[in-house]
Amino acid sequence: MKFTGHTMALRPYIVGNWKMNGTRAMLAEARAIGRVASRYPDIDVGLAPPFTLLHPMVEAVPELEVGGQDCHASVSGAFTGDISAAMLADAGARFTIVGHSERRQFHGEGNEEVRGKAEAALAADLSVILCVGETEVERDSGHAEAVVSAQLDGSLPRGQGAAAKLAIAYEPVWAIGTGRVPQVSDVAAMHRAIRAKLLAVYGEAGAGVRILYGGSVNAGNAAELLAVDEVAGALVGGASLVAESFAAIINAANMLHDA
Ligand code: PEP
Repeated sequence: MKFTGHTMALRPYIVGNWKMNGTRAMLAEARAIGRVASRYPDIDVGLAPPFTLLHPMVEAVPELEVGGQDCHASVSGAFTGDISAAMLADAGARFTIVGHSERRQFHGEGNEEVRGKAEAALAADLSVILCVGETEVERDSGHAEAVVSAQLDGSLPRGQGAAAKLAIAYEPVWAIGTGRVPQVSDVAAMHRAIRAKLLAVYGEAGAGVRILYGGSVNAGNAAELLAVDEVAGALVGGASLVAESFAAIINAANMLHDA
């Protein structure tokens, strides 16, 4: 059993983010992932398909935790093209990702908006995976931890019980979809800094928040990344689209958990 730096065992959490990929033909892949997930009862496995596949996936693969990739901060209203947290929950979602760097970059989402989305999701009884991470320029100039700390200050949801349904995904922007991953020592340092921030904001409840690593996780590097202190799981993009490679990541999490 792997213990984190805060001497608390957290259930490993492996989540796939399909981004804007997948039509109903891909449900076969989700079923294959579901079969793998059911072999590992000690690992939490989630999949975030495009909105159009949410409900079909919930119906087709009940053994998977299915979630959204984003939600709006409002419950309803004149927001063409947006989806509220209550709608995600109604479709059968159990969680949503918020603050993904592609939302921040391509949709101009700032920390305050991300916090609003996270709080709306919690109010709809969804769990939240809140993404943070620095750009390459920010890392190279030595500001990575300050940037992530500021993102957390601005976007962490507040309120009673927020920490209990929260996970953080540390995703260096320059590592997403690039095949590049940070040094293990940099991942460890950032995850320690995130844990310290969570404890400062939430008190002891901050010890139970899972901190995932995301950015070019694949079958080949998962074991090394998941073994890092304070890494409680992974948010996986490209490698989650193919059941075989996603299965290898789930398997790596299970081997570490059993070790
Ligand atoms: C992501 O988008 O959350 C991600 C980590 O993508 P990839 O695994 O493809 O780098």
